[in-house]
Amino acid sequence: MPDMDTMVSLCKRRGFVFQGSEIYGGIGGFWDYGPLGVELKNNIKRAWWKAMVQDRDDIVGIDAAIIMNPNVWVASGHVATFNDPLVECKNCHHRFRADEIPGEACPHCGNKGTLTEPRQFNVMFKTHVGPVEDDAAIAYLRPETAQGIFVNFSNVQQSMRKKIPFGIAQMGRSFRNEIITGNFIFRDREFEQMEMEFFVKPGSEDEWHDHWRDERLAWWKKTLNIRDENIRVKVIRKERTYIIGPDPDDVKEEKPPHYSKGNYDIEYRFPMGWSEVEGIASRTDWDLGAHQKLSGKDLTYFDDETKEKYIPYVVEPAMGVDRAVLVALFESYTEEVVRDEKRIVLRLPKTLAPLKVAVLPLARNRPEIVELAKKIVAELKPYMMAMYDDTASIGRLYRRQDEIGTPFCVTVDHQSALPGDEKYDGKVTIRDRDSMEQIRVPVAEVKNVLLSRLVE
Ligand code: ATP
Repeated sequence: MPDMDTMVSLCKRRGFVFQGSEIYGGIGGFWDYGPLGVELKNNIKRAWWKAMVQDRDDIVGIDAAIIMNPNVWVASGHVATFNDPLVECKNCHHRFRADEIPGEACPHCGNKGTLTEPRQFNVMFKTHVGPVEDDAAIAYLRPETAQGIFVNFSNVQQSMRKKIPFGIAQMGRSFRNEIITGNFIFRDREFEQMEMEFFVKPGSEDEWHDHWRDERLAWWKKTLNIRDENIRVKVIRKERTYIIGPDPDDVKEEKPPHYSKGNYDIEYRFPMGWSEVEGIASRTDWDLGAHQKLSGKDLTYFDDETKEKYIPYVVEPAMGVDRAVLVALFESYTEEVVRDEKRIVLRLPKTLAPLKVAVLPLARNRPEIVELAKKIVAELKPYMMAMYDDTASIGRLYRRQDEIGTPFCVTVDHQSALPGDEKYDGKVTIRDRDSMEQIRVPVAEVKNVLLSRLVE
């Protein structure tokens, strides 16, 4: 596996991710996705939405506003408890998470004995709604998407006539004024989450919690093609914390968050160590109960068949999109030596690859070759992400496409496009990213050959 710097540099060089506001020196914890990064990210989001909403009868989607009534965050506990204990260095005034300080010395300036006692600090970004900046108009940028779902529980349940058990899914931006950002797009101050709240009958939550652990783990493995040795589940219960999967001894005792009776954290083996990519929390009736209390609105569910009335319990799989992008990049990155040269290949699953095919002319000074290549791109575009590229020699173009994970290249040469050529056959070459195998295919069949290989 490459180190983080190698990945950061590949992402910049190839147009996946750039430092936010780079020309002004950047801004910590904010990143901009480039032309290929946005495609990869959208493909991951599409895969999640399809699996979690469109392929199922028991989950529906919503898209709630980022800024909500501030009482939402009072009820959810975020105003009171979404704090990290921090220490500040009296010398350089940098702040650090208390649990991440290795010793007595300040990690920034190196001074000893200048760190304060831990203090609480709220990581929600504050803003003002309306023209007057007074306390009454304070609002927060949401630190999670989940609350937009809870406050819409009754709206969705009634308008869609949903019966428990059922779920509501949402994806969108979240904001946390993280004290320590870092590890590239792993910990950001602005990021994207995909969360699903699954509403169940009290008493059935443990079974559903296990069910969603298995479903989500299977989704990660299948969608991102993750090897067993790189993914595991951390079980966090009030009584104890343990690992299901690789490196079972590498675990610290921790407690579930305030809203949860237990968590399954899906962890990936990043270069900086095992780190969470998705949390599956058993949130009980904490959220709906708290919103019912503070809003005074009835958020109970009435079961027509059993005539029971209750506040549903909730199991929540919540993942970070940016972390999934990072996993996809690390898991697919390979280096190999081909004819004494280093070949870097992103073996991305075909569904996630930003481009599915690049069409390359062997000679860019032959109008017939260029024309045919452009015609093929135009024919492919309605069916898949396709690009035309003639900005370098064929060897370099192949290497560039390997490095961005494009599953196929189509090369148009003299034989393909010049009827006067003695070897003219009206065929083009399709080259496979992983095996580098090349096959000759008649121009008219290129689309169907690619479509059938893309679903393999
Ligand atoms: P961590 O312990 O890493 O701070 P968390 O337990 O606070 O994460 P949750 O509140 O459970 O995270 O959020 C669900 C998911 O959202 C996480 O699994 C992660 O993928 C993503 N996420 C949370 N915070 C960030 C962040 N600052 N940057 C990028 N993704 C994040």
